[in-house]
Amino acid sequence: MSNLERDPAEQSCSGRPSEGPVTELLEPRTVWLGRTQQVRRLLPHKERRMVGAWCFVDHYGPDDITGQPGMWVPPHPHSSLQTVSWLFRGLILHRDSAGNEALVRPGELNIMTAGPGIAHSEESHEQQANPVVHGAQLWVALPDGVRNSAAPRFDQYDDLPGLSLDGLRGTVMIGSVAGVESPATSYTPLVGADLTVDAAASLPLTPAYEYAVLVIDGPVTVENQRAEVGEMVYAGLGRSSLALSGPGRVLLLGGEPFEEEIVMWWNFIGRSHDEIVALRNEWNAGLTGGPTDRFGVVRGFTGDPLFAPALPNSTLKPRGRTR
Ligand code: MN
Repeated sequence: MSNLERDPAEQSCSGRPSEGPVTELLEPRTVWLGRTQQVRRLLPHKERRMVGAWCFVDHYGPDDITGQPGMWVPPHPHSSLQTVSWLFRGLILHRDSAGNEALVRPGELNIMTAGPGIAHSEESHEQQANPVVHGAQLWVALPDGVRNSAAPRFDQYDDLPGLSLDGLRGTVMIGSVAGVESPATSYTPLVGADLTVDAAASLPLTPAYEYAVLVIDGPVTVENQRAEVGEMVYAGLGRSSLALSGPGRVLLLGGEPFEEEIVMWWNFIGRSHDEIVALRNEWNAGLTGGPTDRFGVVRGFTGDPLFAPALPNSTLKPRGRTR
């Protein structure tokens, strides 16, 4: 569980929004996902809570799970967000309370829109044939105008558009990069791409977006900032291009700054302490015979769902995108 926690806050942002181009190195912290898997968490970060509407970034693997359970996340709820599952290697079985059962495969985009509430489970599948897992689990915060009206759903995109530029190629997961647009639906101006950097490249950006680059394989240098595998460089706003130099592979995440303050606790996003308390109570009550109207029931998973843990004694405060 050790983590070389140099303090990224001291590099430039001092907890205040950076409204221009910057390069902040964000180091991951290692956390347990359930009892079987360790992941590296990049967002929320101490001083950099969001990048566009991207509010949660876990990077895991590559892990050899031969003889191990690999990913095993029992049914748990979400609200007011979309989960975005992206695999580099491996195979994951997804089940949700909207009745979807799907295999998450490398290079395919899987988006679950929670709306007011959904529940799902995720587990490694056919481990013998897929002994290595490597991927990213991301969340996108839904804006207030749609978070309670968007219908819970699951969408799979297996034919995403490719991108090819000098020194760089990849797949556009969501939004658009260099005029190449993904068919995936987002509710705020957002972008995500999986990019292989073969040499020095200049990536065109949207100046109104803020961006971050998570290094999957590298090291990769982003502008003047070298980043090792597992590290992320926050690049700020106001750039029309970004210099990347590899060889390596990165996830590009970006979007219009998300100006609403949100409360993130456990697997819920809300706007107030009281809303989170109500969501927690409703989920836990549904596990002990109470109504399950909001979150539904995940069918087909072998094992018990996860109870929401106890709330902290302090009041949860809505927070903005930087802290
Ligand atoms: Mn989840």
